Amino acid sequence: MSTLADRLASVQGSIADAARDAGRHPREITTIVVTKFQPTALVAELAALGVRDVGENRHQEAQAKAAALAGLGLRWHFVGQLQSRKARQVRAYAAAIHSVDRGSLVEALRSDEASVDCFVQVNLTDHPARGGVAPDGLEPLVEHVLATPGLQLRGLMAVAPLDEPARPAFARVRLLSERVQRIAPDATALSMGMSHDFREAILEGATHLRIGTAITGNRPEAG
Ligand SMILES: *Cc1c(COP(=O)(O)O)cnc(C)c1O
Repeated sequence: MSTLADRLASVQGSIADAARDAGRHPREITTIVVTKFQPTALVAELAALGVRDVGENRHQEAQAKAAALAGLGLRWHFVGQLQSRKARQVRAYAAAIHSVDRGSLVEALRSDEASVDCFVQVNLTDHPARGGVAPDGLEPLVEHVLATPGLQLRGLMAVAPLDEPARPAFARVRLLSERVQRIAPDATALSMGMSHDFREAILEGATHLRIGTAITGNRPEAG
């Protein structure tokens, strides 16, 4: 059986290979290890292996882990659908929120305190339940984020649809990002690529990968 360290090294090697094939430097790419459902001890082990960026998708779990591991210098990325009534609490520990997808959430995140990095999530499917703003609503939402204190727009986030090849889907995100950069020139980041499609994401310009099981191993059953 491979260890956590083996799997981390193997994924890091594949990321470096894909970056080289894309003519990019691996340092341009931030790997966020998604640790949802995994025990806090595993996150501590990742930190000991040099991981700095971790991702969670449920507020209560993220908040508890962030509190337990405060002092390890981890940056917590919130990658799941976020209810507006939990937005303020997530701000308190998150370095970045990858799932900004509607105006009511932007309002809930409004703050005069230090800015939190955020990504506008785009929905690449026709199913609203998958999360993310539909492409035709993208510019108004981006303008809303730009006009709201306490939010620093970094770029776009997307999850590849289940029923089509990942690479053309990621290429669509890259085109949407070019559209967004006309009104938000600094919003150049692209949060895309998971365990099964991070290579395709890197080839299409991903700057932030969100990788879970390829590094952590299978997730324990959702409790
Ligand atoms: C769980 C999750 C990931 C990681 O998925 P893996 O397939 O385990 O790599 C990435 N992004 C989001 C939004 C997730 O919920």
